[in-house]
This record gives sequence, structure tokens and C-alpha cells, in this order.
Amino acid sequence: MTRTLAIANQKGGVAKTTTTASVGAALADQDVSVLVVDLDPQGCLTFSLGHDPDQISKSVHDVLIGAEDIADVLLDTDDGVTLLPATIDLAGAEALLLMRPGREYALKRALAEVAQDYDVILVDCPPSLGVLTLNGLTAADEVVVPLQCETLAHRGVGQLLRTVTEVQQITNPNLTMLGTVATLFDARTTHSRDVLADVSDRYDMPVLNPPIPRTVRFAEASASGASVMRGRKNKGATAYRELADNLRAYWNGADIATYEISE
Ligand code: ADP
Ligand code: MG
Repeated sequence: MTRTLAIANQKGGVAKTTTTASVGAALADQDVSVLVVDLDPQGCLTFSLGHDPDQISKSVHDVLIGAEDIADVLLDTDDGVTLLPATIDLAGAEALLLMRPGREYALKRALAEVAQDYDVILVDCPPSLGVLTLNGLTAADEVVVPLQCETLAHRGVGQLLRTVTEVQQITNPNLTMLGTVATLFDARTTHSRDVLADVSDRYDMPVLNPPIPRTVRFAEASASGASVMRGRKNKGATAYRELADNLRAYWNGADIATYEISE
């Protein structure tokens, strides 16, 4: 059975795309067949997996508006995952989709055509709560919320959780809020831990294990379009491998591993 996980937070810069690419590559390294979906018109996931959005003729946009079959749009990547790429065209999909009945189901319908080929589908949502994110949440079995522990990370989390609840009530009763992925984490500072403790208390959200530490290498990789995980031994890549293992265990029936925040 295919598991579809949405990675969502309407705040930008919280490592949604990095989490999608890294967990995807870590799973692919273990012979899990993975499809990753770029739902952000900026195409950062597409770019970080080695494809230049400006050079791509067919994208998720064409699939969502029904102009292309999903199978004809998928791309292979050096990281071993299959990519449904995005281009800036997707910025117009919002307006086009808004006029259609069943607009929240466009991605779910498309994914159903290829789902049998994949064990796991990861959906990298854009930094908004518009119709694209609603498509991601409607297509998903679970959602995780990457959260940067440094700043006022939790502003907007309430709004995101209300959106998830609405999706559960209206378009996808099966959607599970799995928890938050703590990103850009610095275990040495009490501040990171305080932010996490506050968020998990306030919103009753588990923090997935492990938190992902800040690593300079990630910034370099995403800027160059180089392979995100291959041959990487830095602590960020190691944490993402562990997170991928924990997600796999969950999909195989275990409880999701959570992080105990020490005071
Ligand atoms: P989002 O998709 O939520 O906008 P990104 O995944 O694009 O966020 O990450 C935002 C920036 O943070 C990128 O420049 C990325 O390289 C950087 N980044 C993400 N995770 C880490 C990390 N663990 N350590 C250092 N930089 C990171
Ligand atoms: Mg992104």
C-alpha cells in the first residue's frame, strides 16, 4: 500500500523542501520506491534534485489542470527518487483550479494513476494555505509540519492546524497530523528546546524524533542543485536518515518515534 506524506507549513524557510528531498533520498537509498511532488511554483525541490525548472516543458501544473498525464511528466533524479516537477507555471494553477469543481482533488486523482509504482509519495507544499496546499493535504495520508526552532516559529501553526482540521472534515477524513519536525535545531541552546516545548504544549502536537540540526552543508547543496544526501555524513543527513527510518517503522505499524524535550 502506498503511503502519501505531505510536508506543510505556510511559513517559508522552515526546511519543508530540504526535509522532502532528504527523507526521499534516505528512503530511496534503502530501496524504497519514492515519488516526490514539488507543489511550490518556485520549483526549489525540482532544482535541488538536479532539474532546472526553467528548462522543463511539462510540470505538475499541466497535470493539475488535466493537460498532461502524470506518467508523461515524471522525471528521474540522481538521488534515486522520481520527481513530479514544478515550474513557475504553477503560480497560475491556483487561479485556474479555483474555477473548477473538485479543485482540491486534482492531485489526489493524478497520483492515483501512478501510486501502484511507489511505496511512498512525499508532497512538498508551497508556503501558503491556498488551493495547492489543500491539494497536498487532500492527497495525503499523513502530514508533518517542519518548524524552525529559532524564531517565533509557532506563529501561524494554529492557522495551519485549523486548515488541517477543515481538510479532515471536508475533503480527507483519513488525514493524520503526525507531528512537527524540528528543523535548524540547536540542542545546545535552551531557546530551541523552549520553542519546541511551547509548540507541542500549546497545540498538543508531538515532536518527531530526531530534531534536525543546523548544518552548513545543506545550504550549500540546495544552492548548487547537487545531490542532497549521496555520500553525506554530516549530522543533518544522519538525522534525516534516522527520521526516514522512524517513518518507515511507523508505516510498518509501530508508533511514531517522538522526541522527549528535556527542560
Ligand atoms: P522551505 O521549503 O520551508 O521554504 P527550505 O528547505 O528551502 O525551506 O530551506 C530554507 C533554507 O534553509 C535553505 O537555504 C536550506 O538550504 C536551509 N536549510 C534547511 N535545512 C537546513 C539545515 N539543517 N541546516 C542548515 N541549513 C538548512
Ligand atoms: Mg520549499
